Amino acid sequence: SADELGALATAFNHMIRELGTLLEQQRAFVANASHELRTPLTNIKLRVEAVRSLGVEDLALSERYLSEVESEADRMARMAAALLDLAHLERRTAPRTLPPIDLTPVLHNAASLMSLRAERAGQVLQRQLLSVLPATAVDPEEIEEAVINLLDNSLKYTPVGGQVTLRSSVTSGQLLIQVQDTGPGIPAEDLPRIFDRFYRVDKVRSRRRGDATGLGSGAGLGLSITRMLVRQNGGDILVTSTPGALTTFTIVLPIAPVA
Ligand code: ADP
Repeated sequence: SADELGALATAFNHMIRELGTLLEQQRAFVANASHELRTPLTNIKLRVEAVRSLGVEDLALSERYLSEVESEADRMARMAAALLDLAHLERRTAPRTLPPIDLTPVLHNAASLMSLRAERAGQVLQRQLLSVLPATAVDPEEIEEAVINLLDNSLKYTPVGGQVTLRSSVTSGQLLIQVQDTGPGIPAEDLPRIFDRFYRVDKVRSRRRGDATGLGSGAGLGLSITRMLVRQNGGDILVTSTPGALTTFTIVLPIAPVA
């Protein structure tokens, strides 16, 4: 009947629109990845040329260029590893059966790993961790990686004297892991996009960690990997931020039913 044909046509149109969106996302991803990999390559090429034309004239400057070449090469390697991580996580389809565990030691471990860096940077890394957490069926290494990524960002963006807090708590049927910092915060208009691949809030601000050419800046991949890791473990991640006050990332995980 015309009604059934009509329904079929609507379903087809819907499918075609979805495919179109998917293709567009893929296209944007490839374009972004190429662009992001080209920047360090250009930086490397310019410096190699400069060192070649300097010869032995200015050894100090040559030395500086060479160490910049090294750090840009490292950055490309990190980016390639991050892209592989993402591709690997996306391919995983089969649901896993993981034994329920208490994540408390995992959280302490993540905090210990990052505490020396916090100290060196003149920041305080505080733990507000419950001594026991209800069991949750997750891969401990993946949750640890997610927490480390969040701590890494908080330490990276929080200025000297700032405070970063790792907190655990329990609400109805859910376990919350929070990473909170007193850094510059994230403007409201950027919040919905910070988990997107290659998204950086303010390229100028992330560049300040390197120099005016963008040397050493992040690629904007960390949070998309973090969210993927959490979602692959049945959880989700939320963020709230008041610029100039507090930024809080919350990992929400389901508590395993009592056997
Ligand atoms: P990046 O490698 O640039 O840090 P991420 O995906 O980890 O990439 O983060 C995306 C962007 O979100 C960052 O460039 C930064 O602008 C912003 N951001 C992430 N965490 C924080 C934080 N704790 N405080 C302020 N801004 C943050």
